[in-house]
Amino acid sequence: MNNDIEEIKSKLNIVDILGEYIRLDKAGANFRALCPFHNEKSPSFMVNEEKQFWHCFGCQKSGDIFGFVMEMEGVEFREALKTLAEKAGVKLQSYSPEKTEEKNRTLEILELATKFYEVQLWKGEGKEKILNYLHERGLKDETIKEFRLGYAPSGWRNVLDFLVKRGYKTEEINKTGLLVQKTKSNEQRTINNNENKNSNIDHWSLSLDNCYDRFRDRIIFPISDYSGKVLGYTARVTPGSDESQAKYVNSPETEMYHKSRILYGLDRAKSEIKKQDSVLLVEGQMDVIASHQANIKNTVAVSGTALTPDQIAIIKRYTKNIQMFFDMDSAGENATKKSVKLCLASGMTVRIVSLEQGKDAADIASENPEKLQENVAKALPAVEYFFQKNFQKFDKNKVEDKKKITAELLDIILDLENEVEKNYWIKKLSEDLGVSESALTDELKKTSLKGKNTKDSGPREDIKKIGPTTKKEMLIWEMIGLMLVSSFVWKKACDEAKTRKIFLSDNLLQLMLEKGEQVNFDFTALSNEISTNRELSEKMQNLFSRKKYQLDLNNNLEEIVIEDPWKEFQACEREMEREEKKEELNRIGNDLKLAEERKDEEAKKFLREQSDKISKELAKLMEL
Ligand SMILES: [Zn+2]
Repeated sequence: MNNDIEEIKSKLNIVDILGEYIRLDKAGANFRALCPFHNEKSPSFMVNEEKQFWHCFGCQKSGDIFGFVMEMEGVEFREALKTLAEKAGVKLQSYSPEKTEEKNRTLEILELATKFYEVQLWKGEGKEKILNYLHERGLKDETIKEFRLGYAPSGWRNVLDFLVKRGYKTEEINKTGLLVQKTKSNEQRTINNNENKNSNIDHWSLSLDNCYDRFRDRIIFPISDYSGKVLGYTARVTPGSDESQAKYVNSPETEMYHKSRILYGLDRAKSEIKKQDSVLLVEGQMDVIASHQANIKNTVAVSGTALTPDQIAIIKRYTKNIQMFFDMDSAGENATKKSVKLCLASGMTVRIVSLEQGKDAADIASENPEKLQENVAKALPAVEYFFQKNFQKFDKNKVEDKKKITAELLDIILDLENEVEKNYWIKKLSEDLGVSESALTDELKKTSLKGKNTKDSGPREDIKKIGPTTKKEMLIWEMIGLMLVSSFVWKKACDEAKTRKIFLSDNLLQLMLEKGEQVNFDFTALSNEISTNRELSEKMQNLFSRKKYQLDLNNNLEEIVIEDPWKEFQACEREMEREEKKEELNRIGNDLKLAEERKDEEAKKFLREQSDKISKELAKLMEL
């Protein structure tokens, strides 16, 4: 691992790498730039080529190429390592080579297919059929190119033949989701659906392969991950063609493409999201593209109807502030409301952008880009928005309506993560409605109980449950998570606990250290053992799935080398020691104040010595 890092560093120049993201100007021995991590008008971001190091005098962030990519892409170290290894042409020792090779082939195929569709749009059949339509929708050529829109021609084997000719095997192509595998029944169905239209059927049904192109005669929207690698597609039916077809056909879930983890446009929007410390969530691909063209570049969309917890976790790497379009009268109201609630529950700040009825962001952006910007600037905090709307919609002087307003608003307030904020809105609701606060609090309790019993409450409860309250608790939970996913770490921690003090303030950690050997350091075994203790087993399950998810988010579990979780565990331990020292320093500080009040010279002297000693220890720990 360390060799990898050194090799990568030796092969890459910080000026080239950072230059891919930001504009660097030579300033004496250094390079200077506008800091990408905070908003500024005059450059305070410096790059030192000799030391291969960057530093911002504005926000005090600094680091090497790895730190920069982590910060810029909002990714963990491992992901940054992968990205830079690729750039440096370094093969990482710790990865399983076959798996990586297979993934690379899949990405290669998707990239080639995307190019194929692009060529079909600009030079092939799509030029006549599609370009006009896209222009009519207000898209400029440069925008169409930026988002790599394409056209999948009609016919059964266009992309398939193209890729096979370039040496890819059908099974390899099939892994990308570009093909549909023929089965008896869908063969029949496809023929029936298309027999009047398609002349290629003979060719297709006689072919040796039992696969054909998934996307035929459709506008192609490539869907990329945060780094711009194409993982899948959404394909819109060609305007004016057979109306009985589905308007949109999407790539299926593949080993690499997971809809619930993709935010459309993130690769183009991420740096702007960071800079503005805010993301704008719109409904569809066209909305994203039109907004970017209208110079609102912090825009992304989800591929389903509502945000998933995975997507929220990804957004939170870049910002905690989200702006959403919301139309109270639209059919999508419930889905959007669900997204709002989920964001509030995970501690994000949500603002709502109002839209005129029946219009989407793309319409407004193409009619009048400034108007869209105006609307976004006027966005209201979510709770305030729902207050306004509900008080407009219902008559607060009627008892029935009072109930409705209460139900609607408590449903939102319940999700707020911050208790102070929660209290504020309850107070406001009580004033606006002329109902006592205690009546509302009672009602809130009922709502929250009801929420627990319905499936609809979603992962809100989980998110709350797994939120640690102190830094120490967070660290302990990290450590537990690491032990649960890696029996190697679990065993090591137990060995260590025999010889030195390990942090026993947590009941689950204590239990795991005691019972580790007995259950053979196995998550399932301990899980069975403590299944009767609901609180404890739920906590364990939560920490286990959270850690697994965290690791899996950036990597497949099989790629994780055994030393890494252990290193992470040790880093947590060190951080924990630092926290304890800091706490000790605080305690001594308080005692010192008291001693000063008492004018107790002897105590003062002793406490100062103690404080110096611990400060030095802390300084040493900080260096590690
Ligand atoms: Zn800065």
